[in-house]
Amino acid sequence: MDALTVTKRVSDLELDVPMERDVHLGRLTWFGIGGYASLLAKPRNVEQLIRIVRHCREVSVPLYVLGKGANLLVADGTLLGVVVTLDSPAFRHIQIDPDTARVTCGGGADLERVITSTVRQGFGGLEGLTGIPARIGGAIAMNCGGAFGEIGSYVESVTIVQDNGVTRTLGRDDIKFGYRRTDLPDGIITEATFQLSKADDQIKLRDKLLHVMKYKKNSQPMAARSAGCTFKNPPKMISEKGAGQLIDEAGLKGTRIGGAEVSHVHANFIEVHDGGTATDVMQLMDLVQRSVMGHCGIMLEREVVVWQNRH
Ligand SMILES: Cc1cc2nc3c(=O)[nH]c(=O)nc-3n(C[C@H](O)[C@H](O)[C@H](O)COP(=O)(O)OP(=O)(O)OC[C@H]3O[C@@H](n4cnc5c(N)ncnc54)[C@H](O)[C@@H]3O)c2cc1C
Repeated sequence: MDALTVTKRVSDLELDVPMERDVHLGRLTWFGIGGYASLLAKPRNVEQLIRIVRHCREVSVPLYVLGKGANLLVADGTLLGVVVTLDSPAFRHIQIDPDTARVTCGGGADLERVITSTVRQGFGGLEGLTGIPARIGGAIAMNCGGAFGEIGSYVESVTIVQDNGVTRTLGRDDIKFGYRRTDLPDGIITEATFQLSKADDQIKLRDKLLHVMKYKKNSQPMAARSAGCTFKNPPKMISEKGAGQLIDEAGLKGTRIGGAEVSHVHANFIEVHDGGTATDVMQLMDLVQRSVMGHCGIMLEREVVVWQNRH
């Protein structure tokens, strides 16, 4: 399949879904590098989203969903398929119910906005995730988190348009959240509800938010072009050490291929400099995996999602 076939099979006129052709997708990621997408679809509502999901399945065109692009590397070249983004207001709502301490948000809502809105109203839970760039869909798909908790702990329900175009809502007991993963069915998360708790002391809640933000700024290169942690920490039974420490001990801080460099601030981050390409990052990830394997016999598993054409 080539880009022309993709656009022929998926016509925006026929589907009546706003679409852009030949979009520089890499620019929409935190890395800011990588290739193009043959089509970028911006459905205005769930009906349009379902239409595009069903159609792509019918005509065998791969479908991808983009969040904030903060855990994503798009390979150089053109991604043959349709990339969906939940930018429309229909997917970005944030509704707080003060009586139940629940917040319901669209899959395209910005995680940081959800956190600040809930903290401002005195509801605690999500503040430990501050500083993690994400949309709600991407945050749940990755079960993002860290030293101060994971998003999965607060999920009450998730609504997803499955790959077959059928919408399903799963309650928290139906979903298993693991380390940077879930067992949700393949599909597009359109909405989620979180159970929070009313804070006894709002000042303490705000202080925690500031503390988490300070911790992240001091330990991670937050301003760099990266995708956060490149590799997952190995299971504790294999190593007590985190991926960053293993990479550091293998002497890899500052190692550079083209415009991609292992961060001096946090060895598990790869930073991209001007002129860097997705190929540089891929080669550097490969080098890090091989070097760590050679140094301590542990094969690091990638956390960063890589989008490249499926063969
Ligand atoms: C500076 C920096 C710091 C970071 N710190 C942390 C951290 O502390 N902890 C942590 O866990 N991560 C961290 N990350 C990584 C990243 O923020 C998280 O993985 C986040 O959850 C990615 O969300 P996103 O919306 O950007 O998803 P994207 O990167 O756009 O996508 C990631 C995956 O989620 C899928 N996805 C996106 N939206 C949806 C949807 N609506 N439905 C279904 N699937 C979807 C995509 O298809 C893709 O497979 C950091 C990244 C950066 C750049």
